[in-house]
Amino acid sequence: MSQNKGIPRALVIGGGIAGMQASLDIANAGFEVLLVERKPSIGGHMLQLSETFPTLDCAQCILTPRTVEVGQHPRIQLYTYSEVVSIEGEEGNFCVRIRRKPAYVNWDLCTGCGLCQEKCPTKVPSPFEEYVGLGKAIYTLSPQAVPNKPVIDREHCRYFTRGKCRVCERVCPTEAIDYEQQERIVEENVGAIVVATGFDLYALNDIGEYGAGEDPDILSGLQFERLLSASGPTAGAVRRPSDGKEPAEIAFVQCVRSRDPEHGMPYCSRICCMYTAKHAMLYKHRVHHGQAYVFYIDIRSAGKNYEEFVQRAMEEDDVLYIRGRVSRIFRQNGKLVVWGADTLTGKSIEVRADMVVLANAVIPAPGNQELAQALGIELDENGFFREADDNLRPMESTRPGIFIAGAAQTPKDIPDTVAQASGATAKVLTRFQQWNGDRSNETEEH
Ligand SMILES: Cc1cc2nc3c(=O)[nH]c(=O)nc-3n(C[C@H](O)[C@H](O)[C@H](O)COP(=O)(O)OP(=O)(O)OC[C@H]3O[C@@H](n4cnc5c(N)ncnc54)[C@H](O)[C@@H]3O)c2cc1C
Repeated sequence: MSQNKGIPRALVIGGGIAGMQASLDIANAGFEVLLVERKPSIGGHMLQLSETFPTLDCAQCILTPRTVEVGQHPRIQLYTYSEVVSIEGEEGNFCVRIRRKPAYVNWDLCTGCGLCQEKCPTKVPSPFEEYVGLGKAIYTLSPQAVPNKPVIDREHCRYFTRGKCRVCERVCPTEAIDYEQQERIVEENVGAIVVATGFDLYALNDIGEYGAGEDPDILSGLQFERLLSASGPTAGAVRRPSDGKEPAEIAFVQCVRSRDPEHGMPYCSRICCMYTAKHAMLYKHRVHHGQAYVFYIDIRSAGKNYEEFVQRAMEEDDVLYIRGRVSRIFRQNGKLVVWGADTLTGKSIEVRADMVVLANAVIPAPGNQELAQALGIELDENGFFREADDNLRPMESTRPGIFIAGAAQTPKDIPDTVAQASGATAKVLTRFQQWNGDRSNETEEH
């Protein structure tokens, strides 16, 4: 297809804040969007956050109106619990194959009443709660899920694992449960694609030191977000997973497997200095007599009002910042002992804490490799999507017609993510207008 003709319809891959922003921008400009999200509902990592730096706004209060707008938009078609398998064609006319995973629930019949989840007898550690809270074997990601349709977790469902139960089927008032549902492949044609697949965190189990992944009171940043969240497993109260006790001291450790070319990722994860300051602050807001310690290499707080935010943590909330690397964390008499070196004083330091929160590295989303192959675009040396040009074309991938937005390109905070999503959208809309203009000329000629 020539550069001057094309289908003014977009595919957005990934339904986090980047993908949602891109979808809304394109749809509000009058064009159709297909939004493909691999999880059962949209929202991405922002849905898991408690409050956001530097304003301490409630993350869900900002996000929920957006997810609802996306869900109800007449020009956005949601393909949740779905993944892109392959594409053919070129800019202007890509033929996309999308795999729709079986939810074992007929979403056309389901009204989202929630009875199946309420009555399901199988409680399982919830991935959405980052395993510090429980969910059910039939679930929606959150109470405000968009779409508000459940899926059955085959690995834990009693019917799939033991051949008995069928409670959800019995209680469903619309007979929507369908244990026989199979995956489906659908084909769609679009003129442009935005890749917004976001990020993941370096797994605690892969860190291989500090007792990460073994000691329940050594948490990841996202686990701590769930503890802080009013809709999380402790309704926002900071409690140790091991015994439910309120921690009197918490040690926060930055740069865990970031800026660590030997054992982890060579790059700076960019958001951890800010979210650690936020974590320490929010802990102090909930546990006034508590003490927060932050171990850091140096503080990178470039962003509007960011430096002031970190200063506030230090000065108003008495968070104690210790410049130095942590060498060891171990258990002694019920406490977590954190050994480090204070590189400003040159002395070794020991902190005895009830909980440790690690700022583990931001890494590329799982499946990026397969998606890059399917789309025919390149990844960079760290596994994020490569931009066409580092300086002047940061929103374009290495293939014409395919754009990148958000943390899929590199670790980013929310404002930068949203800005890049709108930037990628501008590129898409320029092409759509060009193609539309070209079509109207054709019509005039005939
Ligand atoms: C602990 C922590 C605290 C944070 N706190 C803040 C804060 O206070 N303020 C702030 O500005 N930023 C904060 N951030 C950063 C913020 O989470 C990110 O900026 C934001 O989530 C990036 O959005 P995104 O849409 O690019 O990616 P994501 O939120 O990761 O969304 C990507 C979406 O794509 C989906 N996806 C992935 N691969 C595929 C695929 N192959 N096919 C289909 N779908 C796919 C995922 O399921 C996900 O829904 C924090 C991050 C962490 C880890």
